[in-house]
Amino acid sequence: MSVLTIADLPSGRVADSRALVRVDFNVPLDSQSRVTNDTRIVQALPTLIHLLERGGALVVTSHLGRPKGEPDPALSLRPVAEHLAGLLDFPVHFSEELVGPAAREAVEELAGGELLLLENTRFHPGETKNDPELSLALAAYGDFYVNDAFGSAHRAHSSTVGVAEQIREKGGEAVAGFLMEKELRYLGMALEDPTPPFVALLGGAKISGKIDVIRSLLPKVDRLLVGGAMANTFFRALGLETGDSLVEEDRVDLARGVLQEAGEKILLPVDCVVAPEIADAVDTREVARDEVGPGDRIGDIGRGSRDLFAQVLEGARTVLWNGPMGVFEMSPFAGGTLALAQAVARVTEKGGITIIGGGDSVAAAEMAGVADRLSHVSTGGGASLEFLSGAVLPGVAALQSRKGGAS
Ligand code: ADP
Ligand code: MG
Repeated sequence: MSVLTIADLPSGRVADSRALVRVDFNVPLDSQSRVTNDTRIVQALPTLIHLLERGGALVVTSHLGRPKGEPDPALSLRPVAEHLAGLLDFPVHFSEELVGPAAREAVEELAGGELLLLENTRFHPGETKNDPELSLALAAYGDFYVNDAFGSAHRAHSSTVGVAEQIREKGGEAVAGFLMEKELRYLGMALEDPTPPFVALLGGAKISGKIDVIRSLLPKVDRLLVGGAMANTFFRALGLETGDSLVEEDRVDLARGVLQEAGEKILLPVDCVVAPEIADAVDTREVARDEVGPGDRIGDIGRGSRDLFAQVLEGARTVLWNGPMGVFEMSPFAGGTLALAQAVARVTEKGGITIIGGGDSVAAAEMAGVADRLSHVSTGGGASLEFLSGAVLPGVAALQSRKGGAS
């Protein structure tokens, strides 16, 4: 689905208007409430700067963490506002209220070219219920609405869905920010119009969380490479011994079905790195996949699999990567993930499109030093998985679509 963006707003629309902007400032904080990774804030800057430079007064909302519908000082957005102030050449204010008289006053006092960050949307019990009253109160803050929080688009909350509907109700626009647009463009391309050969590299902990993605990608990919603990469940479907490895017993039949459906398209690891336990300092062995012993735990794909997968990737023009190949957080089991991170980055360098999604996968790409050598690093963990499984994200559906104006 193609949605309108802030670039489609009529010229002059932003100046002297108030924009309600939903961003994803759900960033990690340390015990002193300092922002330890500001990637998500930095990625929202193009949208914020575009609007501020055009004289818009920006009322900005976000959630942070999972407070239970009530204030939790450890999850206040105040330190995020301070961090943001250091990144912008425009005045940044903070409101301790999301809705209420003080918040309203702060909104009314806001001048063009200034930004007001409101307190954590999830301090309000109405947020996760998409409460109409909260949506209406938020909608009063903006002449138009901008959603740049792709990572929250799979949730129908007040600040992502209800407010968009309310603002459209009163004649205002509801459009995507640049980050949201980029996410939809890249992930949409993978689903709708991938340049072949299209190779998906899937891994991570579980099949269960990703079965819908596998099903949706299967008809579209030329090759599906599977690593990580996910591969163990497929091994079992082939009748192989997996020792004490992580296996989803109740998904073995499902895996068997996928193998049948996928035929030649799917490639499983041919060998594995095993150890008596998954720990930071253990002696590992590399064995063929039919040589895993009863007490073994599979922690990574082996060298033969890395070479095989890298060879398939070498011919790819579009790559979608979700899920690490092993327990990359521990050095004895990081080799497969790091090697394939390089193989994916080489595809970008040869002019291919490379897309990575998933919280742990992105962390692995950063660890491998390839994050800036990929075409697109998705900020939305759960949202990108839902999108790739073919679901319409409620936060996207609430925006104006390019064709016809109504979604
Ligand atoms: P993402 O967040 O990128 O979607 P997942 O959350 O699905 O990825 O999976 C990531 C986790 O999978 C990592 O914490 C990693 O340690 C784990 N994992 C990968 N391979 C194995 C394995 N062979 N055994 C146990 N855990 C694994
Ligand atoms: Mg994860």
